[in-house]
Amino acid sequence: MADITLDEFRAEARSFLEANAGQKAEAAAFAWGEGPDDPALFETIDRDEERRELTRAQAWRAKRFDAGLGWISGPPQLGGRGLAPAFERAYGELESQFDVPDQSFFGIGLGMVAPTIADHATPTVAADLLPKMYRGDIVGCQLFSEPGAGSDLASLQMNAVRDGDEWLLNGQKVWTSGAHYSDIGEVICRTEPDLPKHRGLTGFVVDMNAPGVEIRPLRQMTGGANFNEVFFTDVRVSDSWRLGDVNDGWRVALTTLMNERASIGGGSSTSGGFTRLQEMVRHFELTDDPLIRQELMDLYIRSQLLHYNNQRSLAALKRGELPGPEMSGSKLVLTENMRRTSAFVSRVLGARLTADSGEWGTFSWAGYVLGMPGMAIAGGSDEVLRNIMGERVLGLPKEPGIDTTSPFKTLAVGTKRQD
Ligand SMILES: Cc1cc2nc3c(=O)[nH]c(=O)nc-3n(C[C@H](O)[C@H](O)[C@H](O)COP(=O)(O)OP(=O)(O)OC[C@H]3O[C@@H](n4cnc5c(N)ncnc54)[C@H](O)[C@@H]3O)c2cc1C
Repeated sequence: MADITLDEFRAEARSFLEANAGQKAEAAAFAWGEGPDDPALFETIDRDEERRELTRAQAWRAKRFDAGLGWISGPPQLGGRGLAPAFERAYGELESQFDVPDQSFFGIGLGMVAPTIADHATPTVAADLLPKMYRGDIVGCQLFSEPGAGSDLASLQMNAVRDGDEWLLNGQKVWTSGAHYSDIGEVICRTEPDLPKHRGLTGFVVDMNAPGVEIRPLRQMTGGANFNEVFFTDVRVSDSWRLGDVNDGWRVALTTLMNERASIGGGSSTSGGFTRLQEMVRHFELTDDPLIRQELMDLYIRSQLLHYNNQRSLAALKRGELPGPEMSGSKLVLTENMRRTSAFVSRVLGARLTADSGEWGTFSWAGYVLGMPGMAIAGGSDEVLRNIMGERVLGLPKEPGIDTTSPFKTLAVGTKRQD
């Protein structure tokens, strides 16, 4: 581990950021009618503009990486800095104070796919792909869900058949966020149909530009198309790009899902912060309305509780513990807060939410209200997370599975999808 203190590192990171990016205006300076008006939960930009944003985001990641700040906790032999996760967090805190290109393109790749590659790919493949991912040269996506397999992920049907040193992949995935701008994907396939469903799966990394991969956009009610259907027809994948052992793909998938839950649960429920809601109430002269005041305070208390629960998880991570079921709780509270925020802004804005009059801070919230239901499904639906909390935190009896053969037997390998 390099010989540098956190304070020295912060000074280094600050001077890099000051030399390469502008400082954000102070949050306290929020004023109604000024600044970005984008509370939407999903972007609605067209795919050409999205490409240009991605190019800017990649340029920024490359600059960071080349300055030794792109993979702070990564191994030095792969271009990482070899520092503790606390240094990574310190950099994240500092960067959030600066105006840098949107880095959400890398969320799935670096937050979920890269840790899975690090744990389950061969050392050669990991050494090839990980530095490129952290430098932003390649982007990764997660190809898990299928039309007949979401919460019950282990029932997926896309198959992979061995052909010498390669595998032939055939089938369909759905809801793949960012597939259209990704270079690689982590895919889970059925490799042994005769084994119990959790045991006949294998994970692979797949080249999203390989012959036989077809990506079709799915347009959601927000107007954007952040997701895709991905069709695989005789797609060839080298056996060296397999993740983990043959038929051990469930373990590979769980690595990804654990990281996904941790990264979503740690989010915040109100884009732009609580001040935005407070100022909305002031702007529409509703500060004397007792119901509005009550709801606003309720939202504040709930957002603080979520914040403290996240702090608790962060403290556990700092102690080196793995994310536990409390992250399912955080994700549930996050979506409940979003649902309440959605109802609150709908009450305050009324008809302004339904037609774009050009008035700042009004119709733009339609993107939040329409995007909210998706947040209650992604990263584990509310119902599935409640099952997890019931079973693993409260110790309630396990839910009977739909594929239980005997009415007296509970599902043998019933781990539910938590993403
Ligand atoms: C914003 C967003 C981004 C996504 N990105 C990706 C991605 O990048 N890659 C990817 O692979 N997938 C992605 N998905 C898909 C997501 O993982 C699935 O939508 C999710 O797992 C739910 O599966 P499903 O849609 O098939 O619904 P189903 O599993 O069919 O569920 C339908 C309904 O039944 C309920 N239900 C299911 N099982 C139970 C149970 N045991 N008990 C009680 N109720 C239950 C659910 O809560 C839900 O209300 C994304 C989804 C969204 C919304």
